[in-house]
Amino acid sequence: MTVDPFPNYIAGTWAAGSDAAPNINPSDLNDTIGNYAQASAHQTVEAIECAAAAFVKWRATSPLIRFEALDRIGSEILARADELGDMLAREEGKTLSEAKAEAHRAGHLFKYFAAEGYRTTGDIYQSLREGVSLKVVREPIGVVGVITPWNFPLAIPAWKIAPALAYGNTVVFKPAELVPGSAWMLSDIIARAGLPEGVFNLVMGTGAEVGEAIVTHPKVSGVTFTGSTPVGRKIGAALFARGAKMQLEMGGNNPLVVLDDADLDVAVHCAIQGSFISTGQRCTASSRLIVTEGIHDAFVDRVCAAMKNLRIGDARAPKTQIGPVASEAQLTINKSYVTQAVAEGAKLAAGGSEVTSKTLGHYFAPALFTDVPPEAPVVRDEVFGPIAAVLRVPDYDAALAAANDSDFGLSAGIISQDAVRIEHFSQNAEAGMIQVNLPTAGMDFHAPFTGRKGSSYGAPEKGSYCREYFTMAKVVHEGRGR
Ligand code: NAD
Repeated sequence: MTVDPFPNYIAGTWAAGSDAAPNINPSDLNDTIGNYAQASAHQTVEAIECAAAAFVKWRATSPLIRFEALDRIGSEILARADELGDMLAREEGKTLSEAKAEAHRAGHLFKYFAAEGYRTTGDIYQSLREGVSLKVVREPIGVVGVITPWNFPLAIPAWKIAPALAYGNTVVFKPAELVPGSAWMLSDIIARAGLPEGVFNLVMGTGAEVGEAIVTHPKVSGVTFTGSTPVGRKIGAALFARGAKMQLEMGGNNPLVVLDDADLDVAVHCAIQGSFISTGQRCTASSRLIVTEGIHDAFVDRVCAAMKNLRIGDARAPKTQIGPVASEAQLTINKSYVTQAVAEGAKLAAGGSEVTSKTLGHYFAPALFTDVPPEAPVVRDEVFGPIAAVLRVPDYDAALAAANDSDFGLSAGIISQDAVRIEHFSQNAEAGMIQVNLPTAGMDFHAPFTGRKGSSYGAPEKGSYCREYFTMAKVVHEGRGR
């Protein structure tokens, strides 16, 4: 379909919104990708009502039917990964190779969950009462609201929508305002997969209007949300108030610990990859590089040298390693963290300013800080940009303490060759995911994705662990009767 404005998908029909918003390429502000419908709260309620009506039948469909639909979606995503990747890179600003890899991941996620639907098993217990049978079964929860951020506009919707449908739920999907193009292409593929009317709905629009309509509607049984911690907590409070289920994946401020015995090449590679690739716009990015005394200076010198060689430019240019910042608002945030850190006495060792490219875009040179006061906002907050702070520590114990000194607990990494310390770190780092001699960002898609503290709330996402969120247990006792 090549209509503009690109419509919403409600009750099995493409529907114009109450308004439309332009989608602008952050690599080239003169490139308007298209205009995308903005749903009203009223249209959102219509989508919810329709998803609730569709749930009655969808929950009872054979897993074979669900498999076929999800597998078909996965196949089309994989077949069109280049096209999807191009849209993603164009509207979000990550490089073309990263964007195509994300499209592939989205396709495989649909295929993984297509098969996962077959594995909805239950348990049989021996009852404590003679002549009574006792079983536990899993049932879908109902209408699931899917609310997603802008930084992984294909993979995150895929790992929420696919399991929701596989386990027999119906979906109302609200993508982030910045990235409607990827969401629309994904929804177009889902819309052609043969799902019954109302099983899947797309409502594009703002958090304040569309998002809140989803969160507060009594027929939405649960919301799976990924986004910032303040928005997640606000949504969580509203869902708790009406007893709805929630799965909240939120912000991060991830430590990468580098010990004296680290392989310096590995340490530098992991720091560059973890802190700056994807323009630092990953919840699992390494924002704090916690480095022991003996290797600190060599590490900083080598990271600064590597940063000078990073090629910043148009996300879709073949040689680009760092694309633009996704939006003007995020660029302003990045610049203000740099200004504030410098004012507080931190040393700007590399980067940290806007740069120009062939086209007018939000280009920003990744920043590395040293000598940062431990309470500086650049150390405590989630910046969500290509900015990393090096914290010098005397030894491993101080490194672990610094790693855990955070309100967040998503991913934590260690670069070392000492098996005892690696094991100790794996056991004691306060994070949901640990990376050893690897960047803090980059997780296998079939394993659970989970965090602690201010980073996550509710059952893990991805892999078979997410069944806990997308289904609920029912316990059945049965006597013989008369
Ligand atoms: P955000 O919190 O601003 O928005 C996320 C989504 O929530 C968007 O779709 C937005 O429209 C919607 N929203 C906003 N206000 C709402 C409201 N009142 N009610 C309902 N919905 C509302 O986040 P963002 O800027 O899109 O994304 C960046 C954030 O996402 C970062 O904090 C990042 O760490 C986080 N993130 C986390 C993970 C993870 O798995 N932990 C993964 C990717 C991104």
